[in-house]
Amino acid sequence: MINLILFGPPGSGKGTQAARLVEKYELLHISTGDLFRYHMKNDTLLGQKAKQYTEKGELVPDSITIGMLRDKVEENPDVNGYIFDGFPRTVNQAEALDKLLGSKGTSISALTELRVSDEEITTRLLLRGKDSGRADDQDVEIIKNRIKVYKEDTIPVALHYAQIDKAFIVDGIGSIDEVFDRLCQRIESVKATIE
Ligand code: ADP
Repeated sequence: MINLILFGPPGSGKGTQAARLVEKYELLHISTGDLFRYHMKNDTLLGQKAKQYTEKGELVPDSITIGMLRDKVEENPDVNGYIFDGFPRTVNQAEALDKLLGSKGTSISALTELRVSDEEITTRLLLRGKDSGRADDQDVEIIKNRIKVYKEDTIPVALHYAQIDKAFIVDGIGSIDEVFDRLCQRIESVKATIE
């Protein structure tokens, strides 16, 4: 099994790259952002709770997020592996994920961080907001808050996996193909060590 965390700030290209990685490696893509948007669109109880946080650019509480993630993993046991996108976003979430995978006799193979500057992601997010209509991408103050939350709460997740030599930085600037090639190179070397 190969289990990847696609890591990086909002707007770093995780969703775009995940879609391509899924095709190449036949892994299950789990995006907590997409799951929350699905629940909000369908106005479920979970969606109503999540909305109070996502619309401010804050993290949804771990108790809600971890339960939702666990359900998704439990629903899909027979896969080659997972690509986690937008999760874990706190060290507490990372510890819960390690535990969950451990209980299934597996673990995180690698965390790949797409590195992109704050200026670049702000430009990309505002552009995405125009096309997608995502409210959290249309307001500079909300974007600033998401970047702040990323630095304070989420960067420690990369350090958590760096401690066990599983965190890798990938340059996220360049064409979609270029970034994809860089990610694949890294994944191939990780695969070589676990096969
Ligand atoms: P981004 O473009 O910021 O990477 P996502 O689509 O991954 O956005 O997530 C959108 C919003 O959903 C986040 O700003 C946050 O409010 C919430 N969210 C997504 N994943 C998590 C998580 N793992 N923990 C807490 N909140 C999350």
